[in-house]
Amino acid sequence: MSAALLRGATALVPELRSYDHIILFTSGGKDATACLVELLERSVPPARIEMHHHEVDGRGGAFMDWPVTGAYVAAQAAAFGLPLYRSWREGGFEREMLRQDAPTAPILFETPHGLVRTGGAGPRNTRLLFPQTSADLSVRWCSAALKIGIGAAAITGQDRFLGRRTLVVTGERAQESPARARYATFEPHRTDTRGGSRRSRHVDHWRPVHGWDEVRVWDALRRHGVRPHPAYELGWSRLSCMACIFRSASQWATIRLIAPVLFERIAAYEARFGRTIQRARSVRALADLGRPYPAALARPDLVSLALGAVWDRPILGPPADWTHPAGAFGEAAGPT
Ligand code: SF4
Repeated sequence: MSAALLRGATALVPELRSYDHIILFTSGGKDATACLVELLERSVPPARIEMHHHEVDGRGGAFMDWPVTGAYVAAQAAAFGLPLYRSWREGGFEREMLRQDAPTAPILFETPHGLVRTGGAGPRNTRLLFPQTSADLSVRWCSAALKIGIGAAAITGQDRFLGRRTLVVTGERAQESPARARYATFEPHRTDTRGGSRRSRHVDHWRPVHGWDEVRVWDALRRHGVRPHPAYELGWSRLSCMACIFRSASQWATIRLIAPVLFERIAAYEARFGRTIQRARSVRALADLGRPYPAALARPDLVSLALGAVWDRPILGPPADWTHPAGAFGEAAGPT
């Protein structure tokens, strides 16, 4: 066992007090929220935790992600009194998808000292297709280009992490897919350069909820009365991007109903590329096969909230009043 690990009540956990910085990469979903609860319940001083959110649509108009996600994550950070640093690739998902004989766009990330812009001078390449629904990140390029690479750039691009101990925390769970089940619960982070002679930084990666089931995740939110992202109240069991490439037939049917303009843009791109997101069926064919979620049909107020860019309600409420959202324990469609 690594000296950095201690045996906790149910799993190996890092020695949390040994870190100068604890970075929670969050998409606003229940699993990252459960990670935050876990850190707080393990008495990590909030002053050492920072939340980082990678904005998939690159701060442009909404395309793939839920329009309210950025505001929801900001409200969550404020409710827990934590700093939030946002990061994104210029032009987001749509620009990366439409890359034609061009380098991938620059990355921008917020820091305590302002906004940093980096990259944008890589090899010229062409995509002109949606990411493939695979666990292989070389073809499922969205995760690599819009999340993992962005988070890494935000760490390697800040000298405040040099010569320090940093713990990156993320919310992947083994229950979500066989590929995620193979992830290590604790390992050196991809930005780790410990022992190096130049720009040495110690960065570990901890997945505290890796072994948790969904019951335990929702219980963590309930204990603190955390209102989940409205997508869960509309029937989604996993948050992900609104138009995630892994969406189910019923989710596409729901998106076609609540966000028809976006749905048509995606369908038009499938036609233009001559290649559908899911190999066997177009999003139109999938939507025809599915049935819209009843919760989405019943709550136009929540649809407006999820499709708006403003979060104007409390994040925290009395735990005794907390109830599971409609999507809890539902379809598990989402990134593998
Ligand atoms: S949530 Fe889905 S669409 Fe969004 S980055 Fe992840 S795999 Fe890609």
